[in-house]
Amino acid sequence: MEGVRQMAGYSQDVLEDLRQGNDIIDVISQYVQLKATGSNHMGLCPFHNEKSPSFSVSAQKQLFHCFGCGESGNVFSFVMKIENYSFLDAVKHLADRINYNLPPLGGATPANIAEKNQIFDAYRLTARYYYDTLQGPQGRIATEYLDERRITTAARRKFGLGVSPQAGLADMLMQKGYNLEFLIKAGLAMSNERGHYDRFRNRLMFPIFDVSGKVISFGGRILGEGHPKYMNSPETPIFDKSRTLYGLNYARQAKTDTMILVEGYMDVIALYQAGFTNALAALGTAFTANHARMLSRYCKHAIVLFDGDAAGITATLRATGYLYAAGIAARVATLPGAKDPDEFIIKNGAQALNNRLGVAMDSIEFQIETARKKYDLGITVQKVGFLKDAAGILKRLNTAIERDSYIRDIASKYAIDPAAMREHIGDGESELDFTLPLVSRRKAKYSGGDRQFDEAATHILYCMAQDATLCGKITSHLDAQEMTNPLYIKIFQAIVSARLDGLDISPSSMVTTMQSMYDSDAGEIFANVTEYEDIEARYTALSHHIMLVKKRYLQKQLDEIDTDKEFERFASVSTELKRLEGQKISL
Ligand SMILES: [Zn+2]
Repeated sequence: MEGVRQMAGYSQDVLEDLRQGNDIIDVISQYVQLKATGSNHMGLCPFHNEKSPSFSVSAQKQLFHCFGCGESGNVFSFVMKIENYSFLDAVKHLADRINYNLPPLGGATPANIAEKNQIFDAYRLTARYYYDTLQGPQGRIATEYLDERRITTAARRKFGLGVSPQAGLADMLMQKGYNLEFLIKAGLAMSNERGHYDRFRNRLMFPIFDVSGKVISFGGRILGEGHPKYMNSPETPIFDKSRTLYGLNYARQAKTDTMILVEGYMDVIALYQAGFTNALAALGTAFTANHARMLSRYCKHAIVLFDGDAAGITATLRATGYLYAAGIAARVATLPGAKDPDEFIIKNGAQALNNRLGVAMDSIEFQIETARKKYDLGITVQKVGFLKDAAGILKRLNTAIERDSYIRDIASKYAIDPAAMREHIGDGESELDFTLPLVSRRKAKYSGGDRQFDEAATHILYCMAQDATLCGKITSHLDAQEMTNPLYIKIFQAIVSARLDGLDISPSSMVTTMQSMYDSDAGEIFANVTEYEDIEARYTALSHHIMLVKKRYLQKQLDEIDTDKEFERFASVSTELKRLEGQKISL
């Protein structure tokens, strides 16, 4: 587990200072009216609509939990959720709040901080230069183009649109003291045997902003003839394409839990000026799994609104897959009679677009409907082909509940036998379990929906983080890899390593550790842990949980062993599993 604290960016000590310096009751009270009731404080949950309080905050544990919607976590999680911040943003916010001086970020030396700041400055000057050029005589063609696309003056200013002339930028920046080598590294100039020239020439320029609104790169669209049609800045010390979404700086402030994902810059701008301030686009490339993970910090729902051509449909299928995997519920909107949202709004107006968004199709439905179009369901052989495709789509769903509800829909919509559908999915657990609480579905991403295992594993980790003695007892019975799931293994190792270092840890501080390791919210990891008042009951539950985790680990090994090739191993694991049956662990 070496490296955990380096990966964090900020050291564990700094994060602990911030966590302890920002009392969770104080911080949350700035947003929610809390009333002390017994050992907890209760209030109306800021994350879902409610009339009677189910949002509880524990001063002692420094954790919050909503019994209504299941949101939970520590002070970092709360700030991330309520402000729509990344983990690092939340760290900065909490440091400011108590006037805490943050050390330079992990890995960042004063020299490369200075270089980054220099690039930021050059990009700010460049954006200004392009913007001014658009207003002048050299901006005429671009202005005509924007007029034609009906981009308002307000939107041009809001998105800082500009024009790159044939030449002039590099010279202007060199006069300000930047040398050529720096400008090339910063992606603003190029050079060949005849000398240097501006990277972007005769293009309509779209500055690309980071979450805080700083210009970090540019996209340029050719004006008139020429190649390529769109060109982007290269990656630089301040710009990582896979972690940037166009429009996120505004969309994140849109006070909505739903983002609209579109294909291009112009779509984002067209939507923005039509009142949809929650639109985003990946930069000239495909929307990736990285983008989806990043977006999951800002929203729980997304509507994919790509072009209606074949390439757009392929891109839609891929994007919805990534969104689903990142825990974002995606829907897909289509725009009949228009090639993109920009054109649709010009033809039909904002209200019409709003109506289309309102009837956006659930992403699984969209995938199935797209598959259906390949077949003629009147022909038996083709119907079987469709059935297989649909089964393949449903197989990827996380829970039996989800699968079952789609099976019912498809069966009635396409006149297909639900039993045949289940058979193709090969789903042994498709019997609905109505006892499964809603909150557990949120946790399915950690271990593929094995509720008992999740419950056991998180309870074990919680106890390890809470009590040093108990942690020692647990680790004498259980090894990290027996936790099976990579996330649980990491937490297990992080706790053991912190305990070995003699650090004073708690469930709440471990949530911070996980947040910093993944730069994302791991607050819900302890959401459903049952607190046992009675120590006897707690030990009984814990023994049971350790045993369950050990058995699942062996069971999983058995499932993976190739019995033909590794018969001896199979035999020894089976024996070990048999030995555990009926055994009890005493703590
Ligand atoms: Zn809630």
